[in-house]
Amino acid sequence: MKRKITFAVLTLLVGAILLVFLNRDRLLDMAIRERLQRKPDMSFVADDGHIRVLLCGTGTPEVSTARAQACTLVAAGGKMFLFDVGDGAVRSLEKSNVPITLLERVFITHFHSDHFNDLATLINASWIWGRETPLEVEGPVGMQAVLNGFAKSYALDEGYRSTNMPHLAARRDVAFGKALEISFPEGKRSTRVYDKDGITIDAVLVAHDPVKPALGYVLRYRGKKIFISGDTEVSPANIAAMRGTDLAIHEAYATHVVRRAIPQMKKLGMTADAEVAERTIPYHADNIALARQAEAAGVKRLVLTHLTPYPGNFVTRRLFVQGMSDIYKGELTVGQDGMIIIL
Ligand SMILES: [Zn+2]
Ligand SMILES: [Zn+2]
Repeated sequence: MKRKITFAVLTLLVGAILLVFLNRDRLLDMAIRERLQRKPDMSFVADDGHIRVLLCGTGTPEVSTARAQACTLVAAGGKMFLFDVGDGAVRSLEKSNVPITLLERVFITHFHSDHFNDLATLINASWIWGRETPLEVEGPVGMQAVLNGFAKSYALDEGYRSTNMPHLAARRDVAFGKALEISFPEGKRSTRVYDKDGITIDAVLVAHDPVKPALGYVLRYRGKKIFISGDTEVSPANIAAMRGTDLAIHEAYATHVVRRAIPQMKKLGMTADAEVAERTIPYHADNIALARQAEAAGVKRLVLTHLTPYPGNFVTRRLFVQGMSDIYKGELTVGQDGMIIIL
């Protein structure tokens, strides 16, 4: 009986292999067609009056397989704006299947590497995969120097590809992007950097000493206001930007957790890590202070990003926000890569 079953299974297996073998060209063609027909999802950028926000990276300088570094994508009025491009951002955007070659503009908050590690990849990939015009990348003074550096590093790649591909040679300038540097009028903490088709974006100075300037951005569309904090401590200077926002995408630092971790690091001989932890506390947004500020500023929905330390599961996410809801009465969300918020 047992032998009969084994024989039957074997026969089926051989039959299946034979079937695949005989149809291998047809199957290969099917796979190729499926691959060629895969298109980016245009629904994210649909011009339907809504604002869509994709958290394409909720990470920090920590290099992680679980999440990308800083990255927030906003779609409004049929246009997409990307705020920061940390490591893993391009892969994350690809995973969400958004059409990255159609980005309207990229905004960088500051030049800590976790906010622009993947910028060169984005510019290069946009060029190779069909972008028609140089990608505009706007940020603090220093933006031009960063793009000049990338241009030097990618000169060989650009040369090889342009020699081989006439369509890339025809738009060589796209390979290097276009830098726009933001300067603030004397005594002002806010300046308009984008104003087109009913969408405005203001750059605002935030508090992330010794990084100067460090910027946040305020986007307005159809009466809705969004604040993207970049890296900042909780500071009264940010209140104007946060006031009455429908959505604040804000960096968050669970100081209470880090403070508990520091003595344990020391006990385990991780003195360098303990020192780093001590030094990062003052220039990030303590989540309890943030809850207070968001409540005072009338923020309707607060979404936490740039999460330190990373809360990787339901339990740690609860611990991360412990005490915040007692203070902040709006809608509170712990961000995760891939999350989409629609306003
Ligand atoms: Zn950062
Ligand atoms: Zn930073």
